[in-house]
Amino acid sequence: MSEEKNTNNNSTEAPKQTPVSSLGEFGLISHLTKNFKEHHAATIVGIGDDAAVINNKDKQTVVSTDLLIEGIHFDLMYTPLKHLGYKSVVVNLSDIYAMNAIPKQITVSIALSSRFTVEALDELYEGIRTACNFYEVDLVGGDTSSSNKGLFINVTAIGQADAEDIVLRSGAKEGDYICISGDLGGAYLGLQILEREKKLFLEHPDLQPVLGDHKYVVGRQLKPEARNDMIELFDKMRIKPTSMIDISDGLASELLHICQRSKVGCRIFEPNIPFNEEVFSLCKQFNLSPITVALSGGEDYELLFTISPDDINRLEDTHGIAIIGRITNASEGAKLFTKSGQSHEIIAQGWQHL
Ligand code: ADP
Ligand code: MG
Repeated sequence: MSEEKNTNNNSTEAPKQTPVSSLGEFGLISHLTKNFKEHHAATIVGIGDDAAVINNKDKQTVVSTDLLIEGIHFDLMYTPLKHLGYKSVVVNLSDIYAMNAIPKQITVSIALSSRFTVEALDELYEGIRTACNFYEVDLVGGDTSSSNKGLFINVTAIGQADAEDIVLRSGAKEGDYICISGDLGGAYLGLQILEREKKLFLEHPDLQPVLGDHKYVVGRQLKPEARNDMIELFDKMRIKPTSMIDISDGLASELLHICQRSKVGCRIFEPNIPFNEEVFSLCKQFNLSPITVALSGGEDYELLFTISPDDINRLEDTHGIAIIGRITNASEGAKLFTKSGQSHEIIAQGWQHL
C-alpha cells in the first residue's frame, strides 16, 4: 500500500530536465549510445573512432540517407520523440529493402536547439534503439551538433546484397505485373487525424485528443514499418522483382519513377488498389476519394514492384500482395482505369516540401 502511494507521488513530480550542457558533447554521445548492441560481425569498428569500419567481403554495399527537419518533416506537437527516432530509422531501412538488399548498419546525426534536454534525447534514442534491435542493424556512428532552432535528424543506412540480387527502378519490362505489399493511404489519413486534433487542441487546450477510434491510421503515420518480410519472401521463393521502389511519396509519384527509369508505360486498375477498412470510412468523413489518397498520400512505406509474367503465378495467391496492373509500352503513358472503365492519366503530386 505504502509502495503504491510512493509510486503515485513520484508520477506527479515534474520529470527530470537535465540540460545537455551538463554532459558536454562527448558525454552526451557516450550517454546516448551506451546501450546499443551490435548484431553483425561485419561491423569491425563502430562508435568511438574517426570512422566506422565495415567488412562486406564480396557483397555489394548499398547506401541511402535522409534528412528530417522539425516543422517540415515532423511536428513534435503530436509526434512522441520515441516514435520519431523509430520512424527516422525505418524510412531509411525501407530504401535499402527497396533495392532488395539487407540493411546492416546506420549512422545517426542530430542537431538540436537548447530546448532539448538529455531526457528528451533519451526518448529519441530509445526509439532508434528499438528499431535497431527489431531490424537488426548496428548504430556505427554519427555526429552531434547544435542548431539555432529546432531538431534535425539525419540517418544514413548501409546495406549489402549479392550483385545479382540488387533490384533497381529501371528494370521493368512491358508485360510485367505491377504489385504492392500491404495497403495504401493509412499514413496520410493518420496525419489528417493528428492535424485535426492539433487544431482542436490549439483552439481548446482543455480538450483531450481522441485518437482511439483511428488506431490503425495513426499507427501507420507515427510508427511505420519497413517491409523486410517481403525481401525475405522474395529470397525464400527465389523470385527477383524486375524493378522496385518504396512508397514514400504516394503511388502516383513512385509509379512514374519506375516508368521513367525503365522507359515504359503502365496501366493500373482502381478496384485492385488495396485499402484498409478504416481508410475507407475516414475518406468518407474527410470527403476524400480513397484513390486520390493512395495516389498522392505518401508515407506508407509499402513496396511497389514489378514481376515478370514467368514468376507471377507463384506470387498470385500470396496474402498481403495486390496485383494492381501491368507494365505497357512507353507510348501508352501511365494510366489509371476506374471501376467504370474510364482511363485517366496518372500525374504526380507527392509531398511538396520545396
Ligand atoms: P569527430 O570529431 O571525428 O566528428 P565525434 O566526437 O563527433 O568525432 O564522434 C565520436 C564518435 O561518436 C564517432 O564514432 C561518431 O561516429 C560517434 N557519434 C557522434 N555523434 C553521434 C550520434 N549522435 N549518434 C551516434 N554516434 C555518434
Ligand atoms: Mg563529430
